[in-house]
Amino acid sequence: ASRSAARRVVSSLEAMLEVLRGAEDELGRSDAIAGDGDHGRGMLRGVDFATTAAHAAQAAGWGAGGVLEAAADAWADNAGGASGVLWGAGLRAFARAAGNEEPVTPEVVARGVAAYVEAVANLGGAQPGDKTIIDAAAPFRDELAAALGDGRAVPDAWAGAAAVATERAAATSALRPKLGRARPLAERSIGHPDPGALSFALCVNAVAEVLGE
Ligand code: ADP
Ligand code: MG
Ligand code: MG
Repeated sequence: ASRSAARRVVSSLEAMLEVLRGAEDELGRSDAIAGDGDHGRGMLRGVDFATTAAHAAQAAGWGAGGVLEAAADAWADNAGGASGVLWGAGLRAFARAAGNEEPVTPEVVARGVAAYVEAVANLGGAQPGDKTIIDAAAPFRDELAAALGDGRAVPDAWAGAAAVATERAAATSALRPKLGRARPLAERSIGHPDPGALSFALCVNAVAEVLGE
C-alpha cells in the first residue's frame, strides 16, 4: 500500500516478463503442436516492450491507468501474432476501465479484469470452450469477482483466481480448437493445453506474487 498503483503496474509487468522469459521455450513447444510455434517469442516480445513503455510512463509521473495504457499500446504494436493484438486490447480496456484513481479499490480491480475479458472476447470472437485465452481468463474473472464479492482482500482473491486460471488452462487439453492458427490442425491439439490459456495463467500468477508483497 505504500507503493503507488502506477509503481505496482510496473512491478506486475516486470514479474510477467520474468516468468514469460522462463517459459518462452515451453510456450513455443506448446504452440508448435498445432500452431506455428511462436507464442513464447510473441508473449516475451510483447511484455518486454510493454514493461519498457510502462517504466517510461511511470517515470514521467503518469497514473496507473496511463501507465497500463502505454504498456498495452507497446504490447500490441510489437508482439506480433493474434495473442499480441488481444493482450494489447485487453490491457488497454483494463486501463481505461480502471483509470488513474487511487487507492485502487476491489471494485476497480474487478471492473478492470472484466473489461480485459470483454475486450479479448469481443475482438477475437471466442466463446468459452473454443480453446483460447478466454478459457482461462473468463473463469479467472468469475472467481475474482466472487471472492471480492465475499469481502476477501484483493491479493488473496487474486491468488485464488490465479489458481483457478492454472487449473482451467490445464483443462483446455480436452478441448478442440475452434479459432486461430490451431484450428486446421485441431486433432493434434487434443490432449495438449492451449498455449494462450497457459500463458494467461502464468501472467496472473506472476501478478499474484506482486500483489502479495
Ligand atoms: P498466432 O496464433 O498468431 O501465432 P500466438 O501464437 O502468439 O499467435 O497466440 C496463439 C494463442 O492466441 C492461442 O493459443 C489462443 O489462446 C489465442 N488466440 C488465437 N486466436 C484467438 C481468438 N480469436 N480469440 C482468443 N484467443 C485467441
Ligand atoms: Mg503462434
Ligand atoms: Mg504466429
